[in-house]
Amino acid sequence: FSAPRVALVTGGTSGIGLAISQRLQRDGLQVAVLDLDRPSAREVAAAHSLSFIGADLSQRADCQRAVQETVAALGGLDVLVNNAGFQHIDPIAEFPEDVWDTMLHVLLTAPFLLSKYAWPHLTRSGQGRIVNIASIHGHVASPFKSAYISAKHGLIGLTRTAALEAGEQGFTVNAICPGYVRTPLVENQIADQARTRGLTPQDVEQKVMLEPAAIKQLLSPEDVAALASYVVSPAAWGMTGAVLDLDLGWTAR
Ligand code: NAD
Repeated sequence: FSAPRVALVTGGTSGIGLAISQRLQRDGLQVAVLDLDRPSAREVAAAHSLSFIGADLSQRADCQRAVQETVAALGGLDVLVNNAGFQHIDPIAEFPEDVWDTMLHVLLTAPFLLSKYAWPHLTRSGQGRIVNIASIHGHVASPFKSAYISAKHGLIGLTRTAALEAGEQGFTVNAICPGYVRTPLVENQIADQARTRGLTPQDVEQKVMLEPAAIKQLLSPEDVAALASYVVSPAAWGMTGAVLDLDLGWTAR
């Protein structure tokens, strides 16, 4: 008998993070979800029997406390899923500098800090995993998303570096790069772009978002969760430093 592995999923009460949390729970892990401390986030966690860690990933001290609270509540930490994120769309000439700072912190610095603080626990695990949810925008650019795209490119660099350092410690580090996934983050973008471009939401999906894709259908959060489930599974012990594209063929051309 060995105790179930413990996972911490950031941004775990919405979209892709919630789907990954539910999937890992079904796979037999004990899951804590980290999210901004709002009543709605606590309610989602409680409704799915997930432990809730309230933290703001733009704050260094919160990152440290979140790891400590997870270990105190669940007895260890074997799997870290860096998933939390948000989007901001503006041309560089008008991009708010405070949003740049916050976005780089939440999307890149927090995964570094959480990895750092989780490192001794992942080393102890024997089956430790870090899964970084990057994006197809970790490989290619689109206009008006400078901070997001810079952070996601950086997250792939962090993934590869951490994988090299973690090999000796016996745990793996990988990145997943989804194309567009139907989540609240993307539903908001569809609505915004429909307004600013004067298109219907259907046209934004098909003609703007899916224009470079070979398969013209948005992914679901569960599609991403299925890949994360494999990466976390014991079977994937030999996969590390991998940057796994789930992009509807976007980058095939
Ligand atoms: P979402 O908006 O549904 O969920 C993001 C979660 O992150 C929310 O619960 C939010 O509260 C949390 N979060 C944001 N800022 C935070 C902070 N400062 N501290 C703690 N939590 C914070 O978004 P999603 O679409 O599920 O995106 C999840 C991840 O997947 C993001 O990193 C995103 O960049 C990435 N991604 C999404 C898509 C897509 O098409 N939806 C595609 C590629 C990559």
